[in-house]
Amino acid sequence: MSVLIFLDQSEGHIKKSSLEAASYASKVAEQLSTTAEGIVLGNVTEDLAALGKYGLKKVHTVKNDALDHLDAQVFTNVMAQAIAATGATVVVFSNNLNGKSIAPRLSAKLKAGLVSGAIALPDTSNGFVVKKNVFSGKAFANIALNTAVKIIALSPNSFNITTTDATAEVVAFAPAIDAPKVTVTAVNKIVGEVPLNEAELVISGGRGLKGPENWGLVTDLAKLLGAATACSRPVADIGWRPHHEHVGQTGLAIAPNLYFAIGISGSIQHLAGVNRSKVIVVINKDPEAPFFKAADYGIVGDAFEVMPKIIEAVRKLKGA
Ligand code: FAD
Repeated sequence: MSVLIFLDQSEGHIKKSSLEAASYASKVAEQLSTTAEGIVLGNVTEDLAALGKYGLKKVHTVKNDALDHLDAQVFTNVMAQAIAATGATVVVFSNNLNGKSIAPRLSAKLKAGLVSGAIALPDTSNGFVVKKNVFSGKAFANIALNTAVKIIALSPNSFNITTTDATAEVVAFAPAIDAPKVTVTAVNKIVGEVPLNEAELVISGGRGLKGPENWGLVTDLAKLLGAATACSRPVADIGWRPHHEHVGQTGLAIAPNLYFAIGISGSIQHLAGVNRSKVIVVINKDPEAPFFKAADYGIVGDAFEVMPKIIEAVRKLKGA
């Protein structure tokens, strides 16, 4: 019995959302009086023993070029073998692209209960009950997992990373690796931008900005703060901004520490993707804009007057 964490890597580095999952899993392990162990697939350049500081006792590595890119079926089979080898009874993923691809397949393969999008530690006082958001963040559900193996996919940015001085034991794991059924012919990565789903600060613009020629108001502030940029759906649909920036019910769901919305009305579909943000700042010239109800801080004003002043003030603060 142990808690096994799937540690996501990108180009040899463990992703921040996996460090959250590791911190979460080590707390679950404490609750169950057991240990937390991680598993990394593919070639990693990072010092894996250092992952002990997130509470992991052991890190299993499967170094194989075939595992450098996600193939959900191959990864699922490797994870099933890892669970059998470690005797894990709880498996934790981050509910990101990889977690969303692997966890449900693993759940079906092992007939293991799955909670995707968990936002809190399980309640183990009477069974094993995990809380998650439902109805686009409008309500919570508490899901009881009754199966021998339990799978949790943790919502990114819903659990704080905690560290200690410990180090982990790093061990090689050699599962059978199937030949992939999918061949990746090209990978086109967006470079030079803060990835939206990992960003702690997000500056976002809506139709109130009138056109793409005004996006400097968003990108200038984003550059100064080291933030990612986002937009409402119509903005991406009209082609003012690329589709990967679209947040909301039909776009990315994000939970940054700061979501800064400029000229966005705050429709229910937009809020569905951003209402888990820790702090929401809204600038809108309409005092009745629905976004103000969800905002922690709001400025009723014309973005074209307010934003240059904010950018100037931040520039001065940063000495830029
Ligand atoms: P608008 O609604 O046009 O609002 C513009 C806002 O800017 C207004 O509040 C206005 O007061 C303000 N404004 C105007 N000028 C200024 C100024 N000079 N300074 C300051 N403020 C100003 N939308 C999403 O965003 N994401 C989704 O995932 C999504 N999914 C959807 C799914 C479905 C099934 C449906 C039906 C809709 C979906 N939508 C989604 C669309 C959503 O309903 C809204 O239409 C959309 O979010 C509105 O975008 P907006 O706020 O940028 O534009």
